[in-house]
Order: sequence, then structure tokens, then C-alpha cells
Amino acid sequence: MQRIVLARRPQGFPVAQDFRLEETGMPRPAAGEVLVQATYMSLDPYMRGRMDYVKSYTAPQELNHTMGAGGVGRVITSRDPKFSKDDLVFGMFGWASHGCLPGRQLRKLDPALPPSTALGVLGMPGFTAWAGLEVHGRMKPGETLVVAAATGPVGSMVGQLAKQAGLRVVGVAGGPEKCAMAVDTFGFDACIDHRAHNSVLDMMEALHRECPDGVDIYFENVGGHVLGGVLPVMNTHGRIIICGMIAWYSGESCETGDMALQKLWRIALVKRLTVQGLLQTDHVGRFGEFLTKVAPPVTSGEIAYLEDIAEGLENAPEAFFAMLKGGNKGKQIVRIA
Ligand code: NDP
Repeated sequence: MQRIVLARRPQGFPVAQDFRLEETGMPRPAAGEVLVQATYMSLDPYMRGRMDYVKSYTAPQELNHTMGAGGVGRVITSRDPKFSKDDLVFGMFGWASHGCLPGRQLRKLDPALPPSTALGVLGMPGFTAWAGLEVHGRMKPGETLVVAAATGPVGSMVGQLAKQAGLRVVGVAGGPEKCAMAVDTFGFDACIDHRAHNSVLDMMEALHRECPDGVDIYFENVGGHVLGGVLPVMNTHGRIIICGMIAWYSGESCETGDMALQKLWRIALVKRLTVQGLLQTDHVGRFGEFLTKVAPPVTSGEIAYLEDIAEGLENAPEAFFAMLKGGNKGKQIVRIA
């Protein structure tokens, strides 16, 4: 089998030399384990955070170990009676051609759905969006929601669910093509190009224009100058759901002058904001409910999704770098077999 390991910890933005492709022996499933041939694997922004040796909500990625990742695949051999050969399953197989896991760590997939959807729209990112709004959003029709990384799997789900709930939904995305996609494919009311509005002031002015009634919910995916621009536009009693801050994942510094802690703190006080950290893992008990509610509109096309599929395990690092910089159009996936 083939796998990609983390060869060294990235200094700043990751590079190819931080990874190593290896051939290893095929694992043999022990009693209760299942051997799976991976067909697709997921590339997610959180993987960058795990490459640093810092305390976080998950343990750091170990050096010289298979890079962690969710994947889908077909069962080759099962030593768990709940799984049979050719079953389609989801599991944390990592950046690897095969995975061997205890059956209790696998989830059988509905063969009626395209398997890749288990990594995006009907997987962890879609669930993150749903859980974040369901648990912390307190959405009311007529309110305004802003979300960046608007065409990615989290942002596009946030936007569509908020639209269904009757909110005005303004996206932020990188470049005119992605902004058009947010409006035309995902039904956002408007989308602001963060590359064209590349300072806090510019972003704030654009948000004032597109959110004439202010912002009630900011679903935070990116940090950086987008966050700086949103804060002054937040309404009293607004909610900020902190889901991610990709602009800072590789150690890039924020614009300290505009993002001074005292300014941030003052805005939170004066506007009586609720600022809530979100970790999808806290809500996994509701994953079944999410699937029951969201799979039907995905199947009917009422909820749209986009996938960007790179070919071959060996191309995973390049696809990962591109995703961190916004090169992906939709959920970034790698086809392995
Ligand atoms: P995406 O597929 O949307 O990919 C990340 C996107 O971030 C890029 O495509 C790019 O989009 C955007 N981006 C990158 N750098 C910047 C920047 N400096 N400023 C603005 N935008 C930037 O990712 P996901 O939908 O999978 O994840 C979105 C966020 O949600 C991430 O922060 C992720 O870490 C977080 N997350 C958190 C979870 C939790 O439990 N808390 C679970 C899952 C995800 P563009 O080209 O439009 O700028």
C-alpha cells in the first residue's frame, strides 16, 4: 500500500519537502478489524493546524506517521460481522491507499448517495455548518448573516441553510469567479471579493454596502482582514460563531493596528456580542439527525454542492497547498483509486 507521512513540521506555509510518499506492507486485519481500499480522501484546513506541535483540540500529527484524514472506500476483508466485502464505508484512513480500522470506527454509507458526498456536503464540513447554526445561530427571518470561504463546503452550507431560514446572506470569497459562484450556484444575496477588498477598511465599506441593516450573525471561517471588517458592522446582540481562522493557520500575523485586542474587546462589550467557539466534534451525537434532515434536499438538488477532485494520492500535498490558498472550487477531495 501507499501512504504519505509528515516528514517534518512546516515552517510557515507548508511545502512538498514536509511530506514523504512511502510504500509499506498491506496491513492484516485482526479480529474486529476491517481492511478497506480507499477511493476518496478529504483534504481539510484543520490538517494544517495539526502539523504544528501545539496543544489544541486534537493531538498534533505525529512525524513519520500517516497524515490523518477522513476517507471513503470499499471493504476488502472484514473481521467484523457487521461489515461485508464491498461495503462502502467512511473512516479515518489517512493519506493512504488502504486503511485497517476496528469496525466500530467505520460508518456504512448509503449506496444511493455519491460516496464523495460523505466527505463534504454530507460529511464533517456540512455537519459543521448545520450544527453551528442549529446550536448557536438563533437565526430569525429578516436578519443578515455573513460567512467567508463562501463557496467551500462549510461556507456554502451555512449560506444555503441561512437562506432557507429567511435571512439575508452575504458571502465573502476570493476572486470574481468564486463570488459569482456564491450567488449563482449557492443562492447568496451578494458576495464580496476579499482579494479586491484587501484591507480592513475596504472590507468594512463593502460590508456596509451589502449589509445595509448591519450583521446579526458572522459565521467566522477565516479571521484576517475579513474579521476586522465585519466587527464594526455587527449589530447589537449579534452572534459570532467562531468555526475557523484559516488566514492565520500558517502563522501569518494579523494586521495588529486594526485588530488590536482592546478594539475587539470594546466592540464585544458595546454591542453585547455573543462570541461562541464551535467544534463539530462536540455535536457528533446529532450527526444522524443532520443526515436525516439534509440528505433529502441534497439528493433533490435543493441544496447545491461543489467538489474539486484531485487525481492520485501522490498529488495530495499540492492539492492541500492549493486549498489553503483558495485554489479549490468546492470541497477538496483526492481520488485515490
Ligand atoms: P474551504 O474548502 O472553504 O477551503 C478554505 C478556503 O478558505 C479557501 O478555499 C479560501 O477560499 C479561504 N481562504 C484561505 N485563506 C484565506 C484568507 N486569508 N482570507 C479569506 N479566505 C481565505 O474550507 P472548509 O469549508 O472545509 O472550512 C472552512 C473553515 O471552517 C476553515 O477555517 C476550517 O478550519 C473550519 N472548520 C472548522 C470546524 C470546526 O469544528 N470548528 C470543522 C470544519 C471546518 P476563498 O478562495 O474564497 O478565499
